[in-house]
Amino acid sequence: MENISPYILLVAGLFVFIIIGVLLLIAISKSEKIGQLKSSLAKLKKSFNNLDEQAKLIVKTDLELNKAQEELDKRLGGLDALQKTSRLISTTLDENEIFDRLHQALMTNLDFEKNLIFIYDEEQILRNRVTLGFVKEEIPAIIAGLEKNTDILADLQNGHTFSSTNSPKSKRESIVQIFNIEHFVLTPILSQKGIIGLVMVGNQSNTATITEGDEELISILASQIGQSLENARLFEQVFRSRQILETKVHDRTKQLESALKDVQDISKTKSEFISAVSHELRTPLTSIKGYASILMAGKLGDIPDQVKARLGKINTHSDNLVKLINDLLDISRIESGRVEMKMSKCSLADMIDTVHDLLTPQMKDKGIQWSENIDKTIPEMVLDSSQADRIFINLISNAIKFTPENGTISVNARLHNDVVTIEVSDTGIGISEDDIARLFDEFYRVDNQINQNVKGTGLGLPLAKKIVEAHNGKMWITSKVGKGTTFHFTLPVKQASTDNNPNTIKADPT
Ligand code: ADP
Repeated sequence: MENISPYILLVAGLFVFIIIGVLLLIAISKSEKIGQLKSSLAKLKKSFNNLDEQAKLIVKTDLELNKAQEELDKRLGGLDALQKTSRLISTTLDENEIFDRLHQALMTNLDFEKNLIFIYDEEQILRNRVTLGFVKEEIPAIIAGLEKNTDILADLQNGHTFSSTNSPKSKRESIVQIFNIEHFVLTPILSQKGIIGLVMVGNQSNTATITEGDEELISILASQIGQSLENARLFEQVFRSRQILETKVHDRTKQLESALKDVQDISKTKSEFISAVSHELRTPLTSIKGYASILMAGKLGDIPDQVKARLGKINTHSDNLVKLINDLLDISRIESGRVEMKMSKCSLADMIDTVHDLLTPQMKDKGIQWSENIDKTIPEMVLDSSQADRIFINLISNAIKFTPENGTISVNARLHNDVVTIEVSDTGIGISEDDIARLFDEFYRVDNQINQNVKGTGLGLPLAKKIVEAHNGKMWITSKVGKGTTFHFTLPVKQASTDNNPNTIKADPT
């Protein structure tokens, strides 16, 4: 040892010192790295944990999404089925057909194991109309069970829907017991008047539970059923009332036909009677008139003035009676179609002028104005001019009679589609609606001051109307009391001839 130089010892010591220092430095740096690695590891662990949680969340969300998708698919399927069913039942108005189609639809479109539809009949008793998944023998017990549970029925009547998912325990248990089914929807069929029936659908197996979607679907279906049934019943009602109405109209028509026949028979008898009596009266009247004329003319010697005056009265009254009898005869002849109209071409304007000339003195006496407006395009008309004359004479004479002094009478005629419409208007006393309704009745005269003073027969208007109708025209009246009256009538320009002679036409007896 004495041989080792201190120098070598120093170097060796230094070397060891350096080595130890280097080792120390290495150790320090390693421990730093370990620290860093540890913190990285912790961070990694945290991230991993985060990732794990996120993965779990994703799996959970995926599961939920799948469930939601399933529910959505189910709802879509249900809605599609509902739409098909609704279309099926809303396209018929026959109640039995609605239930047939519902049976079909519940079987093919909607996917429930058990289905029941009950409807209240007219006596408010529940009747089973659709059964699927139950045997007939079970139904009476189900109805009895429902009727016993009045609280459930009361809720249904108030529009409440029960389902195995939402109902209170006690009621759910009752329903399960009534229908012997675990999963169900029980809903009322409502109409505007209230409950008309019930729908129950359900599943027995636990894999096919009821969802909220099912509950909603069946409620909608029930209201569709309600609407379709209401439409069908309404249609049935309308159809029935139409049938009743048709039967009534048919019966009434028969009654009317028979009444019309009676009236026609009576009218015929009346015409024949009037005709016979008139003929019998006319001959002696002609004699009376003839003798009165002979006496008045002094052919049998002079007669005193007083007798002459009385004979004059006999003459006037005989004239009036002859006119009345002639009018009566004409009416009954036209009515029975025994008058043969002598048709010829004539000018309406000329006919009106002739009547105007004839009646001008009477108009002048009362200071009545005359106004005339005859369509120039009216061609010559085919008429029995001697009869047609009487229409104008009657109407214009009446107008003069019932128009106060200084009034106006106007005659208008216009042509349309080969038919001439003529109006004879006055500014006279007018006629009430009640009187208008009876004015064409034979012998009808309005009870007024003028009629009390001036004699008349009440035959002029019926005769005028009959003549118009014999020419295939129509006559009607418009009037305002105190303002004036218009008599309207139509005459076809030509007449359809009914026999070989185009100039003659038989009056239509109707
Ligand atoms: P008459 O003139 O002989 O009484 P009509 O048959 O010609 O018989 O007339 C029947 C009734 O109709 C008349 O009594 C009268 O009351 C009413 N009448 C007819 N024409 C008119 C008229 N233009 N204005 C008011 N009333 C009328």
